[in-house]
Amino acid sequence: MRLIETEFITPRRTGDPLGRRATTSAPAAPVNLGILDHMAASVNEVVDFTRAATPDAGPPPAKASAVYAWMADHAEHLAEEKRRDAEVLVLRQGLEHAAAMGEEDTVRHFARQQPCPNCRCYGLFWRPTPRLAACVNRKCPGPGRPARTFTLAQLARHHVEARESLARRAT
Ligand SMILES: [Zn+2]
Repeated sequence: MRLIETEFITPRRTGDPLGRRATTSAPAAPVNLGILDHMAASVNEVVDFTRAATPDAGPPPAKASAVYAWMADHAEHLAEEKRRDAEVLVLRQGLEHAAAMGEEDTVRHFARQQPCPNCRCYGLFWRPTPRLAACVNRKCPGPGRPARTFTLAQLARHHVEARESLARRAT
């Protein structure tokens, strides 16, 4: 659990998912416009979320890579539910970025460590196309479309909520 947190949550909070890309300075490779669009949409989502949650947040940083830290600073003061939404957003975007960059192993690794939101069986199976995690238990009661499958958004929310309830029980 802690490993996942370190891998998926902490770096996104303090750093930014674009950082790795921004520091690779080789311009030789053709720019994938689809990925750039995806990154821009992700940053916009973070800005919109932060502004809606904290209207007095002020203008976002000009540098896209600083936007995640900006959101994290403001998220600290949010009500529990909104703070949870922020965590889910960051985790979900982290997974989406990995999938968009073709880092399927990262997503596969994460899915494998999640219990199925329905039947709690471990070992969700990641399908890069159509980007769904499937439960391996044939008797899993569903739901899901197709049956027994979950989106990254669903997995991210389930992960964050499960972690919180674990933390509550530990205290
Ligand atoms: Zn299941």
